[in-house]
Amino acid sequence: MKLSNDVRETVQRRAQGACEYCRLPQEASIVPHQVDHIIGRQRRGPDDVATLCLCCIHCNLKKGPDIASIDPKTGPLVALYHPRRHAWREHFTVATEVDPSP
Ligand SMILES: [Zn+2]
Repeated sequence: MKLSNDVRETVQRRAQGACEYCRLPQEASIVPHQVDHIIGRQRRGPDDVATLCLCCIHCNLKKGPDIASIDPKTGPLVALYHPRRHAWREHFTVATEVDPSP
């Protein structure tokens, strides 16, 4: 089922035009951001606006339909970040330092 333009615009406006996973602004990407089903349709995720997020192509390809993954540091299965349920700052950090070495 195709999402309506109203739904797409609502998702884009709520996300302020940035990927809700990595925060990449739409204007910094040559590929338009996509509306992602946080819980994919394969897992019977609904088309409700509350279950959708704006997602860059890189994050969408990495996440795919997954809702959980093995934590590479500790081993257990953990839920992936859910933009409507989790606090972004508890899952991600922004690297602000650039290594000046060549
Ligand atoms: Zn992203």
